[in-house]
Amino acid sequence: MYLASVVTNNTINLRSVVDGLAQVQRPLLISGPCSAESEEQVVNTAKELAKRGVHILRAGIWKPRTRPNGFEGKGSVALQWMVKAREASGLPIATEVANAQHVEACLNAGVDVLWIGARTSVSPFAVQEIADALKGTNVPIFVKNPMHADLSLWMGAIERVRSTVEGPVWAIHRGFSQYGQKEYRNAPMWEIAIGLKMAMPEVPIICDPSHIAGNRSLLHPVAQKAMDLGMDGLMLETHPDPQNALSDANQQLTPAAFGDLIESLTIRSASAPKISSADLTALRLQMDSIDEQFIELLHARMDLARQIGLHKWEKGMTILQMERWKEVFDTREKWATRAGLSPEFIQNFLEQVHKESIRVQNEEMTSKISRS
Ligand code: PEP
Ligand code: MN
Repeated sequence: MYLASVVTNNTINLRSVVDGLAQVQRPLLISGPCSAESEEQVVNTAKELAKRGVHILRAGIWKPRTRPNGFEGKGSVALQWMVKAREASGLPIATEVANAQHVEACLNAGVDVLWIGARTSVSPFAVQEIADALKGTNVPIFVKNPMHADLSLWMGAIERVRSTVEGPVWAIHRGFSQYGQKEYRNAPMWEIAIGLKMAMPEVPIICDPSHIAGNRSLLHPVAQKAMDLGMDGLMLETHPDPQNALSDANQQLTPAAFGDLIESLTIRSASAPKISSADLTALRLQMDSIDEQFIELLHARMDLARQIGLHKWEKGMTILQMERWKEVFDTREKWATRAGLSPEFIQNFLEQVHKESIRVQNEEMTSKISRS
């Protein structure tokens, strides 16, 4: 299916890709290590990436980690490594800022592009502090989506930055955190990126498959999907020795593997007519994404059913517990009615779900019995 019209507006420029003034074709490519680890690592990666068509070099200098005591980045000293990498490769340089001091250090060092990370864009206070520190500058800024799936919060962060800076402000879609079992490190929830495009059609969006996928094997399908949706660019993490990276080792690629991945993508022209919020394609895309999440939720539910099956087996209980089943029906029926769904529909649906739960519980018990 041809989908490229959903997102793009065909205007890369990004201040003529940070004043290299070259005409850049979609997709804009940003790549480099998750974290700057040494001068040699940053400079070598930059040189390798410049040979493979990358437009902007990225590296994290201050790393916001979810838990303390992880590698928290090399700090300001690494800014000079980035500057050297720019000299060696000719690539403009980008890094993440999380507060006003970071912004000041980057502006002093002459960093070309800044981005606001997902752990920062959740906080209007933090975003405002950064926006204030950037006041009147024309450095291009990328705003990553906040960790959790809140479109307004993402839009708010973009608006705060746009109200103080004079340069271009772009969005980065890096997926949303989800609790429990999952295929992706961060659920893509493509419908939110599409929602942003509908609400702010003038804001270009690039996709960060590295942080969505969390592992190398999923990078290609995520990057391809982003291209099929017509996103304007890709941010992908690369490292000379990914296995031994100090952060995000599972998701980084060597520059050579990055080159292969980009070569293997099918990039369809993005010049098809733009679609509006009422367009069938956009609505179907959102529906696809919701169905995908819906199936993931059913998968998580069946995993719980298996665990319950195991518990029943250990306690010598029967699989079908009528009282519990009645309670399930009653509560769900109430929830469904509140959501405007008919009781018949939800009953039929629950019966099917229940049938599948019993099947997986049986499977679990049978395998337990055959092993015991
Ligand atoms: C990063 O780009 O290295 C990073 C920390 O990303 P995010 O803010 O999306 O987690
Ligand atoms: Mn990372």
